[in-house]
Amino acid sequence: MATPKSAQLQSPVDRNLQNVVLGDLLFQPWNQSIYPEDLVAKDTERLYVCRWCFRYTCDADIFDQHRKACEHRTTPPGTKVYDHGGYAVWEVDGQDYKLFGQNLSLFAKLFLDHKTVFFDVATFLYYILTFTDPDDHESYHVLGFFSKEKLSWDANNLACILIFPPYQHKQLGKLLMGVSYKLSGWDSNGGPIGGPEKPLSELGHKSYVRFWAERIARFLLRGKPTNSSLDPVQQKPNSTPKGSRKRPPRETMTVEELGLGTGMLTEDVITALKSMGLFDPQATPKKRKSNRTGSGEDPTPPGQTVTIQKSDVWDWAQAHHLVWEDPVCESGFEGLWPPVIASEEESHRDALEED
Ligand SMILES: [Zn+2]
Repeated sequence: MATPKSAQLQSPVDRNLQNVVLGDLLFQPWNQSIYPEDLVAKDTERLYVCRWCFRYTCDADIFDQHRKACEHRTTPPGTKVYDHGGYAVWEVDGQDYKLFGQNLSLFAKLFLDHKTVFFDVATFLYYILTFTDPDDHESYHVLGFFSKEKLSWDANNLACILIFPPYQHKQLGKLLMGVSYKLSGWDSNGGPIGGPEKPLSELGHKSYVRFWAERIARFLLRGKPTNSSLDPVQQKPNSTPKGSRKRPPRETMTVEELGLGTGMLTEDVITALKSMGLFDPQATPKKRKSNRTGSGEDPTPPGQTVTIQKSDVWDWAQAHHLVWEDPVCESGFEGLWPPVIASEEESHRDALEED
């Protein structure tokens, strides 16, 4: 069979699956498929995947029949937790929807190279991002998802994240990252501060660093992101007085304070500040050591003070075209989050009383 031209443009990866059809969209996998070998054998030309439930087949007729009868055709599984501007996020419990979780994982693995796909889906929650065309309420598109361990000892608020290739470069990853932070509950009830599971892929790292940097810049320049009790730099009482000479004064915060204000882990705050060129531990106002030239080490442990100059944050924001609006709309969350199941609440209360 002749090789299609498009395949010649791809890097010469030995893919066992050449193309995947998600709903009406045809595109190429990035990685080896781990679909069952009796179905996706070597050099399978095309695999059809349902865009609602992620069931799969190589048979176009079976696929057509399924599309008309899919049980999730009009409504995604799970519970809607966010809805704004046509975009919605649904929480799907892997325990309740095992087949859905497994099929979603198989599909995602075509585009995630370093993460192990966990088939023990019962221990995960899946948050799927959907878009419903306002002119077509009959059905919806799943654009991507993130998964989260139900019980994470490392306070990970996210395990895997993927925006499907046809929908990438639309800032949708930031929307899901924002939702993951919101759901970790730090801002509403002082819940744990969390972050994504490490190590991140190269692409994941790049995306997160940008997301964190923007989150910090918004916090420092505008306040928020939500009900933080911490004043942002610009609201400090002794910030730049009118008519001050030359440069505005440096403002000081600790990395931990920045973490508390943004719901981020201190290690992630440091990573973001470094990427912004704002991590300047040697320029602490009280003891600046001029004889120390830049060494590779980071002498500032998380609790120590870093100095941040507001004008530098402004410069960064302008140079990087910071979008001022938070990627997540606060009013888009449905109900109270994080959800507290009555029995959990009681057992938590019992635990407290025992103390
Ligand atoms: Zn289906």
